[in-house]
Amino acid sequence: MSIRKYDILTLFPQMFVSPFMESIIKRAQERELIEINTINIRDFAPGRQRQVDDYPYGGGAGMVMKADVLGNALDQVTSAHTYVVYMSPQGTRLNQKKVRQLSQYEHMVILCGHYEGVDARILHRIHEEISIGDYILTGGELPAMVMLDAIIRLIPGVLGDETSVIEESFSSPWLEYPQYTRPAVYEGQMVPEILLSGHHENIRRYRQKQSLLTTLLKRPDLLLNRKYEPEERQLLEEILFHGEQVE
Ligand code: SAM
Repeated sequence: MSIRKYDILTLFPQMFVSPFMESIIKRAQERELIEINTINIRDFAPGRQRQVDDYPYGGGAGMVMKADVLGNALDQVTSAHTYVVYMSPQGTRLNQKKVRQLSQYEHMVILCGHYEGVDARILHRIHEEISIGDYILTGGELPAMVMLDAIIRLIPGVLGDETSVIEESFSSPWLEYPQYTRPAVYEGQMVPEILLSGHHENIRRYRQKQSLLTTLLKRPDLLLNRKYEPEERQLLEEILFHGEQVE
């Protein structure tokens, strides 16, 4: 698999330094699984002033990022194979399914807006607008970090144990089961005994049931309009009709 490349267009490249130079994302770069570049949009502004924004036509509050500057930047960093994303509260809401889809692209350019956003005449150069939720942030930098973090951990080789990606919440239709680590007893609370049994099939079934129960308690909306596997149906019946306890 070739290295995945992420070019981030931003007015504030410094914001990305620490988040991407720690832990898993740092290691993924060192191992050349991914390459992340932050590109300062201001470098593409003409003149001595290097003006990147201007007042909105028609009046109103705030400033708008200039289409010509953004166009210059996009010309430099995109090719025919680039997928261009603009972080925007008006975009498709990010979820795990969308993250999985975005993790397939080998080269992405991520445009971070600021102020009142971008001149609308640049939007035809964008393949997709992505939102991280129905609230407004000051800029697209934090949303870009959130999206990239979620994408990068799905790239093969980035996480040590690939099964952790398969089992976690939102990868299956269910939330993940509760997890425990040493010590076996904490403040009088014992780890569920079955997890110490070494019986893989019983543990698998137990975890599946705990997944269903966790979903029922925390996100019952995820249980609606689903096709259930026979085992899931059976486990749900046990939970609902035999008063199973969540751990
Ligand atoms: N005036 C814009 C609107 O009402 O749609 C909001 C602009 S916001 C203050 C500035 C920039 O922050 C946006 O251009 C976008 O890049 C980013 N941004 C803010 N909230 C976001 C969100 N929920 N998801 C993704 N990006 C967001």
